[in-house]
Amino acid sequence: MRGAQAYWHAGSEGNVIIDPGYTGSVGAVLRFLKDDALTPDWVLLTHHHIDHAGTALAVCQATGARLAIHGADAPYLTAGRPRERMTLWGMADRLPGRLARYVVSCADCDLTVLEDGQSIAGLTVVHAPGHTPGSIALWSASESALFTGDVLNNERGIRTPPWTVNQAHAAARRAPERFLELRYQRAFFGHGPAILDGADERVRAFLAPSSRKPAGVI
Ligand SMILES: [Zn+2]
Ligand SMILES: [Zn+2]
Repeated sequence: MRGAQAYWHAGSEGNVIIDPGYTGSVGAVLRFLKDDALTPDWVLLTHHHIDHAGTALAVCQATGARLAIHGADAPYLTAGRPRERMTLWGMADRLPGRLARYVVSCADCDLTVLEDGQSIAGLTVVHAPGHTPGSIALWSASESALFTGDVLNNERGIRTPPWTVNQAHAAARRAPERFLELRYQRAFFGHGPAILDGADERVRAFLAPSSRKPAGVI
């Protein structure tokens, strides 16, 4: 969806859209659902950024799906957002709604607040803050799969995001260490192609001290 990946996850405990995408992606999401007669129970957001969450409210309103995000990112979805680079230091809250929806995510509906270790629709919440305070990955033990959100991307190989888009850069660089305790054959990234075999070994190799540059070097 316009730069970021959206995922459909179906299971016996519920159907989920992970990160439906940038503002205006609702039409593409609804076409995807209609083509296969799919009904989502949940929209799960890995974090609040507009390229992942911009169309979440519209998808929920169109489908009746419930919206869930980690508690530390929930304040970014409503007026009075924390003032920092990714919210234009609060300026976004002073824009008219029709413009604001292109720079900040909106969700004036009931939010379900997620926390680390929680299971939702067959996926386990792995809180890995840094990129945003409430950044999470979603892990399926039974399917040996990890949805990384932006904790890791795979655009030019496995990376953490650059400092320009991280709320807390040093923490963002350490965040994927949370994944060392997990086993997963497959990894699905917020940006970049999936790894469908041996994904946890690849991430472990990336996290090995010898393969990483000092903090601050991009
Ligand atoms: Zn992001
Ligand atoms: Zn992103």
